[in-house]
Amino acid sequence: MKYKLEKPVHAVIGTEKYQCSIEWRNGKFIADEPLSGGGKDLGPDPYTLLLSSVASCVLVTLRMYIDRKNWDISSITVNVNMYQELVNDVLTTVIDRDLILNENVPDERKIKLQEIASHCPISKILESGVRVRTFVFKTGETKTIKYGNEEITVLWKPEFCQHSTRCWKQLPQVFKPSEKKWIDPNAAPAERIREQVNRCPSGALGFLQALAKDK
Ligand code: SF4
Repeated sequence: MKYKLEKPVHAVIGTEKYQCSIEWRNGKFIADEPLSGGGKDLGPDPYTLLLSSVASCVLVTLRMYIDRKNWDISSITVNVNMYQELVNDVLTTVIDRDLILNENVPDERKIKLQEIASHCPISKILESGVRVRTFVFKTGETKTIKYGNEEITVLWKPEFCQHSTRCWKQLPQVFKPSEKKWIDPNAAPAERIREQVNRCPSGALGFLQALAKDK
């Protein structure tokens, strides 16, 4: 498992309704809710941000393709919007993109561009089975949490965990992310736990060889 972004998107909200300060790799911007949503409309709302991602991804994908093909298309514009409706009692989201080209382009090229657009990475993400997971930590949590018995003490540094799922998929009786005390050192032989700890890709897991009776 490797995260797509080397630096995660970092966002903070305080008590000011509803300004979120969003930090990305190379800068910062404000997101907000519209006036109708109780915000001050000082920045894009979450739906706008989502659709902006769709818009920029399709434009970059098309530009790369057009340049590779050496086609004479000086600019592409896209309008993106979405709606939601119930289809057989299931809430369904539809995102529509209208592409506007600056030049007269033959129909077969338009069809090709439509096809390329449908393969842009963000479209593919949105059309695949996306899961959104949430993990909760206390501010500044850099501590090492220990889970031990007489034979082994497993160390976990939440800040380093990349949620790769490797530990809990490979040794689910010990690593149980849905439980508060999520590592149970009694549920497998110490040797097996040590082996699993060594497979952690982020260095979030470690162990102490010596005896310890921690929480
Ligand atoms: S502790 Fe390591 S193996 Fe387990 S989820 Fe975190 S990064 Fe993955």
